[in-house]
Amino acid sequence: MHLSTGDMFREVKKSDKVIGKLLASGQLVPDEIVVNMVKNRLTKDDVKKGFLLDGFPRTVKQAEELDAMLKVENIKIDVVFFIDVRFEEAVKRIVGRRVCSCGASYHVTMLPPKEVNRCDLCDKELVQRNDDKEDIVRDRLSVYEKQTKPLIKYYKKSGSLIGIDGLNSESEVFERISKYIKVVV
Ligand code: AMP
Repeated sequence: MHLSTGDMFREVKKSDKVIGKLLASGQLVPDEIVVNMVKNRLTKDDVKKGFLLDGFPRTVKQAEELDAMLKVENIKIDVVFFIDVRFEEAVKRIVGRRVCSCGASYHVTMLPPKEVNRCDLCDKELVQRNDDKEDIVRDRLSVYEKQTKPLIKYYKKSGSLIGIDGLNSESEVFERISKYIKVVV
């Protein structure tokens, strides 16, 4: 089961202005709120066969809280992927991203849809996430440097970190990650 805290907050922001403001400015949602949301999500039946956390944890505090909640359930983190992409390349990739409400994701030059700004899967109009605008992206990446980067050391220490060179081709990155993921239906 793919669990993206970003997707969850994009849903929450429809009815919560405070969360909406944090997302729009590229700042992180406070640890306590994120941790409680994930804790609650991990009680659902659909994660019992395994799950992949995307965008979480993003601070050392969140990682510690995750360890504590998994310990209670006797679950061990199998692997942590660190997809390494240098700053300016990350800016280029994020700024060019276009998304569809059906969940599909494109890039204006690296993965363009067949018809400009239309989803190949459902024909709806593609949009740029507000926080994918360049000035916000630069703020998000500086938040990453300060608050998320320390997690590399944290997971290196625990022996679960798998480093992946994100500058390799899409298929190489996909292949390398796939080696560690078993799809259970
Ligand atoms: P993402 O889709 O992962 O890029 O997340 C979009 C936004 O949601 C982030 O910029 C944060 O504002 C918020 N968010 C997502 N995951 C987390 C997290 N683990 N901790 C704090 N804020 C988060």
